Amino acid sequence: MWNLIRRVAANFRLEARGYHAAPRSGVSTGLYGFHHLRTAGGFQRFVDEAIERSTELVAFISTMPSAADVVRAMDEISDTVCSVVDSAELCRHTHPDREYVEEANKASLRINEYLHYLNTDHSLYDAVKKAEREGNSLTEEAQRAAHNLRVDFEKGGIHLCEEKLDRVNQLNIEIAQLCRQFGENIINDPGYVDVFPTSRIPKQLRHLCKPIYQSSSRESTALSKSGYHMKERGFRISTEPSALSSVLQCTADEEVRRMAYIKGNSVPHGNLHVLDRLIAARHELARITGYRTYADFVVKQNMASSPKVVASFLLEMSEIVKDKADEEFEAIWRVKREKCSPTAHLEPWDEAYYTALMKSSAFNLDSSVVASYFPLPQCIEGLKILVKSLFGAKCCNIPMAPGESWHPDVLKMSLHHPEEGDLGILYLDLYSREGKYPGCAHFAIKGGRRISDNEYQLPVVALVCNFSGSPNSSIARLNHWEVETLFHEFGHALHSLLSRTDYQHFSGTRVVLDLAETPSNLFEYYACDFRVLKTFAKHYSTGEMIPEKLVESMQAARKMFAATELQRQIFYASIDQTLFGEEAASPRDTSLVVADLKRQFTSWKHVEGTHWQARFSHLLNYGAGYYSYLYAKCFAATIWKKVCQDDPLSSATGTALRTNFLRHGGAKEASVLLNDLVGGGILKKRDGGIVPDIASLCEEMNVVCDVKLTEGKRSRIFL
Ligand SMILES: [Zn+2]
Repeated sequence: MWNLIRRVAANFRLEARGYHAAPRSGVSTGLYGFHHLRTAGGFQRFVDEAIERSTELVAFISTMPSAADVVRAMDEISDTVCSVVDSAELCRHTHPDREYVEEANKASLRINEYLHYLNTDHSLYDAVKKAEREGNSLTEEAQRAAHNLRVDFEKGGIHLCEEKLDRVNQLNIEIAQLCRQFGENIINDPGYVDVFPTSRIPKQLRHLCKPIYQSSSRESTALSKSGYHMKERGFRISTEPSALSSVLQCTADEEVRRMAYIKGNSVPHGNLHVLDRLIAARHELARITGYRTYADFVVKQNMASSPKVVASFLLEMSEIVKDKADEEFEAIWRVKREKCSPTAHLEPWDEAYYTALMKSSAFNLDSSVVASYFPLPQCIEGLKILVKSLFGAKCCNIPMAPGESWHPDVLKMSLHHPEEGDLGILYLDLYSREGKYPGCAHFAIKGGRRISDNEYQLPVVALVCNFSGSPNSSIARLNHWEVETLFHEFGHALHSLLSRTDYQHFSGTRVVLDLAETPSNLFEYYACDFRVLKTFAKHYSTGEMIPEKLVESMQAARKMFAATELQRQIFYASIDQTLFGEEAASPRDTSLVVADLKRQFTSWKHVEGTHWQARFSHLLNYGAGYYSYLYAKCFAATIWKKVCQDDPLSSATGTALRTNFLRHGGAKEASVLLNDLVGGGILKKRDGGIVPDIASLCEEMNVVCDVKLTEGKRSRIFL
């Protein structure tokens, strides 16, 4: 169901009726510029109109117009439906008004029902098949759209007999419910540990704790003269993921770390059963629709093209980083032995604590000093400077029309090019607040799309982050990791805003999954380069530019345990591939799979009884696609090295990025885009699929990339 709306795309008249991208100031519009959304109740009318318009288009397609008209009309159906789905999605995650959230939920349910109806409409499917057959009369982009649409229809089971199609529909509903339940369980059962006495918890973590009391162990002898029992004061710490990582990083008391690690990696227990059912349902869905496994179902349309290619890539990476990761493990262990005892073992709950300790002692880095150079408004200036120097475009703050915003903190910007005019609209909702989506993400509100020869529907996107103000200031100062996150999300936004595809279907980030994270990973490099940082990173009180030495230390600290981090990503990707791959055919204990893979891919122990996968929510939306992050890391390393590194802010660099890559969204083959941008040496063909060339990443991490050795080992394992 989801596939089709991501894939189908286009509209022409809707925005004239419903959307004002550039409202005149003072004129009331609605949320995100959709005038239906002047009130929460307007979501209903928004859905009604989307359905009305789509129904007209379905009727038009059933008259069997030309192939080009079919593709254009399908794209408009998708655009119409996506406008509702995407704005409801953003609203559900960020709107502070419950009424808006509830109406967005209702709109989401209704539009999804309608989507189901579209996905099983044979007249649309027949028209798309015909358009694909008559591909010669179409542009390359339209041919790709027709092909993708046909494949997506078939992934929804439209080509199957009625009985099987019914089963596919049931499974899709079940999968959606299981995913929702998995996420809800994580929120509802974060776990906690009780620690006595309070002195065992470092001061900087106490805002995460709730005070608790217990009768003192010396109770019998400690009756005071007045007859009161002595009560010992302690702390209850939540083990939700971000609190857990703070505890593991900052707590010197090993027993506290051990308790928190075990608890945090054992909740929510209920998700083990949810995950088993999800794996079984996805496997059955894949089999009915003609794929061997769910991993095949997901990977087939990607660059990798088969799970076998993904597996060989993961194994290749794993062999290359192993020695370096082992060295890092030994170094951490050595420090633990020095600090504790010569016979101390290195445990999984030690990693975050000792690596943080080693980084700060090696580079004398104080995170609050680093953060003093990154007040959030300065970082936003940095993004503007980046866009100006790379693309010659200006990001201008523009006022919201009444009713357009959802919170006073939200900023609106237009991206404007002196010759090309407006390129798109960007909302920034960057501060944390209660009830808001807790992570950082890029939300598309409208995709770009050619309406006529001289009219283009501008993309509209929102960046949502969760930065918090420091205790003494309402202005957030970001730590370096947060600056990287901001640049990462901005990379997604640029992909959307700079693409100029004919169809919304291919707008910006609507590319194959294993290319989608490449621009965002590339822009993380900009957040680490002194030449970029010196343009905006200035001390919040003195205005002094960030010292080059400090940036060097930040870069070195970032690389210090890079092999361990990479090994972890390889391990995660392997879990994802294995659980949704062949293993799914014969159900087995997911905890045993995770334990086996941990031994195979990392230097670290598995702790019996823990089941970390119960919180690995990437298994839901990135199911069998998590490896895409590693693909992106490799591609971004090569692009940075070969296209950007010499002169990262030059307009020549920006022009190359834009004209060869970003402007095409998903309208061209991903491998063609990468080769056009870099001119070779970025990817390799393997077993009918594509894997990234890992040489640039290896060089950056100082690991030796002995291709001959790995090729030999790989063929032994995979032949
Ligand atoms: Zn991303």
